[in-house]
Amino acid sequence: MKVFKFGGASVKDAEGVKNISKIIQRYDEQLVIVVSAMGKTTDALEKLVEAYYDQDNNLEQEAFDRVKDFHFTLISDLFQNGELIKKKINLLFDQLQQKLSNPPSLNYDFEYDQIVSWGELLSTTIVSQYLNDEEGVVNQWVDIRPLLRTDENYRDAGVDWNLSGEFMRKQFNFNTQKVYLTQGFIGSTPNNLSTTLGREGSDYSGAIIAFALNADSLSIWKDVPGVLNADPRWYPKAIKIDELSYWETIELSYYGAQVIHPKTLKPLQNKSIPLYVKSFVNPDGVGTVIRSDVKVKELPPVLVLKQNQIFITFSPKDFSFIMEKNLSQILTVFSKYRIKINLMQNSALNFSVCVDMKRNIPQLIEELNEQYLIRYNEDVELVTIRHYNESVIEEIIKGKEIVDSQISRVTARYVLKKCPWDFS
Ligand code: ADP
Ligand code: ASP
Ligand code: MG
Repeated sequence: MKVFKFGGASVKDAEGVKNISKIIQRYDEQLVIVVSAMGKTTDALEKLVEAYYDQDNNLEQEAFDRVKDFHFTLISDLFQNGELIKKKINLLFDQLQQKLSNPPSLNYDFEYDQIVSWGELLSTTIVSQYLNDEEGVVNQWVDIRPLLRTDENYRDAGVDWNLSGEFMRKQFNFNTQKVYLTQGFIGSTPNNLSTTLGREGSDYSGAIIAFALNADSLSIWKDVPGVLNADPRWYPKAIKIDELSYWETIELSYYGAQVIHPKTLKPLQNKSIPLYVKSFVNPDGVGTVIRSDVKVKELPPVLVLKQNQIFITFSPKDFSFIMEKNLSQILTVFSKYRIKINLMQNSALNFSVCVDMKRNIPQLIEELNEQYLIRYNEDVELVTIRHYNESVIEEIIKGKEIVDSQISRVTARYVLKKCPWDFS
């Protein structure tokens, strides 16, 4: 059996849903199909969470209506007779409204997961019904939450591999079904409270299911021909890479290549399950295969850009050297605020980090302000170049102010004031 994952871009409109039906029909085999929220639904639900949390009724209603209208427009484009699906979707929106009618708890991340998880419930309900009723692609809709058991680390939940594996093997047994359709991104705690695996986590869900079921492969269907040597949105010269090892891909996703969620690779590597990154626009294309026995002699330079970064430098006010004690203190505060460090550097008197510009950074700075002199550069960008050469480095840094750099044998990293590929 195979696991397919279709992301938000592949189901962003009725044409997209029709297209994934065509792709599925090319495969006459046992499938578990994992689907993300449609288009930008998760972003829209994030706005809803914020409005709910701020108890701003107008904004909340606006955000709710936007999500609802989007899904109902899609339904009217997809279904000849949409009575049944409209009933099901109305029910989901009623349940969401019910949730919103109670005031939020103090735990923002908990509230976030309870609400944002609706995106995947809506999308999979629509896609599953469409395939069954309009396309004759018989499939069983499955709520993944009771099967994908996690801890209570809301918004970045940790997976209980043993229990999830057991539950999934029981549910996805293919005794009477050939095709199952379920949600990416979401799971639940032992108390059946919804959790999420982190933004873009549906790729990871695909890998968890593939791991649990010992799948032949996981295919993730994207709007790009495969893994390219840079994001084509801002590096138009990007070229496709045909084959990659798990290790190389883990490195790339770790540095921020957004094409695959970083946690996706490890479970696949552990069971040597190949990962195919394929184009839903051109399903005949070979895409990229990621597996263990890849012996690519030379990869082209691979570029990863992270935007909206802040570069922060800490210097002890008492002029003490940066030692383990300071590092541990600073890192503990980063961990407390759940801010991931994308790059770090230290010298005798300075410790610097490059991190995503998040809304709790001012609180973090406030907390360390007493002991450290803190300077920062806002709105910088972090560029990572794997397998670099002189000419690509020159191209990337030309005319830019370098705030910081780190160069190792394989990887060159620059914190820059303005991105060279910013064609917007
Ligand atoms: P999904 O629909 O599965 O959520 P994403 O939008 O998360 O898909 O990922 C696909 C996008 O990733 C592409 O449209 C592309 O702009 C971006 N991307 C970033 N880095 C790369 C890369 N190295 N190769 C291919 N695509 C990349
Ligand atoms: N819908 C979620 C998100 O947009 C998960 C995913 O798409 O992978 O982050
Ligand atoms: Mg995505």
